[in-house]
Amino acid sequence: DCVVYWMRMEDMRIEDNTAFHRASERAQEFGVPLVVLFVLSPGDYKIHDRSTKRIDFMLRNLRYLKPRLHELDIPLHIVSYDRRLSIPKRLVNDVFPSLGAKHLFANIEYEVDELRRDIAVVKLGREKGMDVRCLHDRLIVPPGRIKSQAGKPMSVFSPWQRAWAKLLAAEPKLLNLSPSPKANLESVKKDERFAKLFDDEIPDSVEGFECAERKQIAEIFPEGTETAKELLRRFLHTKPRKTQFQIVSPLSEGAQESKKESRVSQYQTGRNLVDGDNSSRLSPYLASGVISGRMVLDEAKKYTGGKLESGRDTGVGMWVQEVSWRDFYNHVMSTWPRVSMGRPFLEKFADVQWEVNEEHLQAWKDGKTGYPIVDAAMRACKARGWMENRVRMVSASFLVKSLMLDWRLGEKYFMESFIDGDLAANNGGWQWTASTGTDPQPYFRIFNTLTQSEKCDPNGDYIRYWVPELKNLKGKAVHDPYHQMPSSEFKKLGYPAPIVDHKKSRERALFRYKNVGEKE
Ligand code: FAD
Repeated sequence: DCVVYWMRMEDMRIEDNTAFHRASERAQEFGVPLVVLFVLSPGDYKIHDRSTKRIDFMLRNLRYLKPRLHELDIPLHIVSYDRRLSIPKRLVNDVFPSLGAKHLFANIEYEVDELRRDIAVVKLGREKGMDVRCLHDRLIVPPGRIKSQAGKPMSVFSPWQRAWAKLLAAEPKLLNLSPSPKANLESVKKDERFAKLFDDEIPDSVEGFECAERKQIAEIFPEGTETAKELLRRFLHTKPRKTQFQIVSPLSEGAQESKKESRVSQYQTGRNLVDGDNSSRLSPYLASGVISGRMVLDEAKKYTGGKLESGRDTGVGMWVQEVSWRDFYNHVMSTWPRVSMGRPFLEKFADVQWEVNEEHLQAWKDGKTGYPIVDAAMRACKARGWMENRVRMVSASFLVKSLMLDWRLGEKYFMESFIDGDLAANNGGWQWTASTGTDPQPYFRIFNTLTQSEKCDPNGDYIRYWVPELKNLKGKAVHDPYHQMPSSEFKKLGYPAPIVDHKKSRERALFRYKNVGEKE
């Protein structure tokens, strides 16, 4: 007999992990070993557009966890199945019987394919007499808890967020951290079946997902819960550093300590700027569950002396509100699963007429659109697998409203590129931008790329760093070299002219959206 905790690529931590904790309790209660199982599935990563950076981050975190689990005498058992649809049968027919497992615990993944997989595991497992438990853990407030007064699901963020904050005030236990799992009895190593699991190897890479920039990315986003906690501490207690958008380790230089002038205290303005380390950079860690949302809010609560602030009035309140977007988009995805199947939330926008233009799509991906802020962001995306929120919005808006290319192409490319790629947040961000989402930017409000550029990168440092063709430009020219420089000078830069005209493309977008958006 033994208990299995099935760790997924969304809950890669030991602390505050609901299923892991409950599995440990069960193992203690029955006096049986606890095994952590991790299933590698290249077929799954492919179909879900996982990036090489995210898969590499996953492997690095497994390597971080293994010795820490071994300290608790808990083996990390790794299996690999390329055919994702075979996973339920393989686990229930092969893996669990080979361990004599009678109890299985896992945290719920709310994506449709994962839910279907888990339903199959529950069904097959129970048929074989196993006790299978799938538990809420990913979010602070589980999907389905927040409803309107009429008992309906809510699709507009602001009232939903107020209800979220109210619920947390009424039920503070939602923020409680789960105790860490207890160690196995050392005798687990004397049983041949379990002893050999301690030798399970974590592969160096997953075929088809080798990460070419691995060393560099490991510098920028080091693995492990300890790193995530230090990033959070710095966000709450140190001053922002200018030009930290460059490729440097976030932990390398001593950041200046200051609670009063900390990054979180300046978040209301900082979050819209891209010329420094103004936000927490925790998204890769939250997306892979290296740190939990509860752990993050626990620290935010300590920062404000024990009370959870949430709202636009303070930096920390604003940040907590931002963290709640993560819950919101998961709530949207689980309430209206069509959004994760390539459907717009607002069905009336299903028929917007998109351009088909491979060259434009490629120019966008390569950062060669002739719009410096878009190009800087897209090149940063390629190099780091991460972008600041403001430039995610600007570059996404450029693809959809200026190039008039289907938002799903951009959604897929971001997933394939980001180290923090997350279906709910990414889809939410794209549908907001494309004006097709639950709480969208109205279709007639179209970002002016140039104005956005001047606001989010006032000195042009971000652009100059990521677009070296423009590194010697001074003043406003860096935002719009084509219009600000004599054409003979512009030609010498070796930088592309704008691939679309802002004014004309804006009119095209308005026309196309109006065509479908205003017919009922
Ligand atoms: P902070 O500003 O420090 O915020 C803290 C945490 O709150 C983030 O780490 C994140 O977990 C959460 N959060 C903040 N804003 C949002 C948001 N709008 N939606 C959901 N969660 C949020 N975020 C992802 O984690 N993965 C994605 O794949 C992703 N794709 C996006 C695509 C588009 C088009 C847009 C506009 C946004 C996307 N976001 C995504 C949301 C947001 O841009 C990132 O979470 C944020 O930039 C990460 O930086 P940070 O950790 O420093 O955030």
